[in-house]
Amino acid sequence: MPRFARVILDRSTGKELDYEIPEPWRGRVTEGSRVRVPLRNRQMLATVVSTSDATDAKGVRPLAGIMDEKPQMTPVLMRLAKWMAEYYACDEQDALRCILPRAVRETGNAPLRRKFAALAREVSAAEISALQAKAPRQAAAVGYLQNARGAVPVAKLEAQTGATAATLNTLARRGLVEIIVEAVRRAPRGSHEFVVSEPPLLSGEQEKALQGIRPALADPAAHKPIVLKGITGSGKTEVYLRAIAEVLEAGKTALVLVPEISLTPQTVERFSSRFSPKGIGVAVLHSHLGEGERHDEWHRVRDGKARIVIGARGAVFAPLEKLGLIVIDEEHDNSYKQDDGPRYHARDLAVVRGRMEPCAVLLGSATPSLESFENFRKGKYDLLELTHRHDGCTLPVFRVVDMRLRSKDGERNRQFLSPKLCNAIEARLAKGEQTILFLNRRGFFTVLTCSACGKAVQCPHCSVSLALHRAEDAARCHLCGYSRKPPKCCPECKDPRIAFTGIGTEKVEAAVRKLFPKARVARMDSDTMTHKNAYHETLGAFRSRKIDILVGTQMIAKGLHFPGVTLVGIVSADSALHLPDFRAGERTFQLLVQVAGRAGRGDAAGEVIVQTFTPFHPSLQFAKSHDFDGFAEQELEMRRNFGHPPYSHIVLLTVRADTAQKAEFVARTLSHQLAAAVPSSVMVSPAAPAPLARVRGMYRYQVVARGRQIRALTKAIKATMDAIKLPKDTHIVVDVDPMAVL
Ligand code: ADP
Ligand code: ZN
Repeated sequence: MPRFARVILDRSTGKELDYEIPEPWRGRVTEGSRVRVPLRNRQMLATVVSTSDATDAKGVRPLAGIMDEKPQMTPVLMRLAKWMAEYYACDEQDALRCILPRAVRETGNAPLRRKFAALAREVSAAEISALQAKAPRQAAAVGYLQNARGAVPVAKLEAQTGATAATLNTLARRGLVEIIVEAVRRAPRGSHEFVVSEPPLLSGEQEKALQGIRPALADPAAHKPIVLKGITGSGKTEVYLRAIAEVLEAGKTALVLVPEISLTPQTVERFSSRFSPKGIGVAVLHSHLGEGERHDEWHRVRDGKARIVIGARGAVFAPLEKLGLIVIDEEHDNSYKQDDGPRYHARDLAVVRGRMEPCAVLLGSATPSLESFENFRKGKYDLLELTHRHDGCTLPVFRVVDMRLRSKDGERNRQFLSPKLCNAIEARLAKGEQTILFLNRRGFFTVLTCSACGKAVQCPHCSVSLALHRAEDAARCHLCGYSRKPPKCCPECKDPRIAFTGIGTEKVEAAVRKLFPKARVARMDSDTMTHKNAYHETLGAFRSRKIDILVGTQMIAKGLHFPGVTLVGIVSADSALHLPDFRAGERTFQLLVQVAGRAGRGDAAGEVIVQTFTPFHPSLQFAKSHDFDGFAEQELEMRRNFGHPPYSHIVLLTVRADTAQKAEFVARTLSHQLAAAVPSSVMVSPAAPAPLARVRGMYRYQVVARGRQIRALTKAIKATMDAIKLPKDTHIVVDVDPMAVL
């Protein structure tokens, strides 16, 4: 049995150290075990990366403790950490840290215990006031417990009254207070009974899709990931449910990833009601779980008590064994991209994990990402399609309203709700039907657009809109760093009416209230949805038709079913189209299709009205005819011509520092040294201020690298970053395959 363990310390940068495994623990410590190790005169937590019979290291000390009987990290997760460190140019320790939730990492397998305090007996007012004089904290604690009438978590009691552990111990010794320790298991879903739902008969298309998936379930090593392309409401989820049932039948487990925003009680209910009555545990993992809940859910999975995991992006690291299937629903969704720490993409990791397990991988979407679609075209993925809405509803009618004509009238007070849209809203109000007004407003940068021809000022090299940097009076490309003085008139049509377009949801809401004073209007965006329940409250009110017109951002675009909605108005398609980003067209297309999916899900046919200054933009035209293939074809052609992803990889390096000089200096150095270290096929941009040039007092500069060989690129980046000596209060954030170059 191996005598030595090689570990990575939790608080290191991936440095590996050897320790001796004490005799009684040999065989129990393996790859993936969590251990405590001595380091100088302290103890630290660490993860075992390998074990061996010999070591070259001098002065090897013994391990101080084991945290788990069954290793917390599975072999596949250990491999995934290595893969992440290489691909995302991060430390292996950072990868391990994102794989293992903190609540688990630090407590090991011990059940998380919570202490409660309660009064041990009646305490009179006289006793309390006597205490008050001698020991005010004790008095406060007793008083609080008296009011609480029952057990209170100790943590809460301490926070509320200023009592300390010592205070409570004294009270316990004196027989006034009782401390209860409980190993609590919290059920994040609440503990209600699930209604048994019998699986419906599959449609012919669904049956065919399921048949297409079966070979991959039976022999995953020999099969490719499968893209399940199906319009909204075509029954993709039902296909997932069937595939999962077969996986469970075969004694395996299943993982379902959904975008954070779609991880609603309804989604979970749909899975639970199918499987829970059969005694199959369903665990839910998402970022809003408390530490305790996360700890419990994680252990339920690790102990094999839950064989299905549903979760947002982080659930890709669920410690399932014998994994048979990973489903990524709405695989194109941006929320799969992690936005701090190692910036991984859960869909990409799911595909990698699928290969490592091996297990079947199913990527579902109405609008697959161009990355996945290109993988299908190259023969790396398979494709299955669902083309009919299950409820037989027809897709909504798209109408594009050309806003240019309005500006030509020379109206001063630029109306942003066209008569066509207003009439349509009016008609819905008269019939008691509901309207969604959608606006994709991203506030922090502006794009120069011409109100005569509708074009946005573009980068000559990258075909992305230039972003205006007001402070420097420059229009800049975020991809290659090209920069020019903002033009005084439109470069296309020479019209001087070139301006920053920008309206927000708030303005729209105000206008709607004024135009339709009798309508019940609500707004939903990150400004109004500040408290936790606001989202559900507003949606609830909308669903029960207490709201006629709902104005909102992306928040309302996804996966919501409102039978009363027959009109979706897109106030401005341009704010999404002209993002200074090469994915702007793709985003807009996805968004339009998603939003359109909100209209006419009930009996009434839906209508979508899109207002735009660029009515002939291909993204709009293809969305109008619900033509994904046509869109993908032309968009991929454009991407290929400009060498954008998926035909290259982009790495965005952001330098943050407490002064602009430092940030700029480091970014410049980084740009030069990186350019020298990479093959000539890699394009490295000069250092430039980030679009968000200053965030929370930190100045930001960025460098963009683009090349075909991602491994060569990330290796060069790692080496360059190691070689640069960073000044104090300076950080470099590496984002491989960023979702936006902003
Ligand atoms: P998607 O995931 O593609 O949006 P869903 O699976 O949610 O589609 O299906 C849309 C609606 O149709 C749901 O209400 C679902 O219950 C219903 N549905 C799906 N498949 C069937 C089926 N075979 N028989 C009856 N109803 C179905
Ligand atoms: Zn450019």
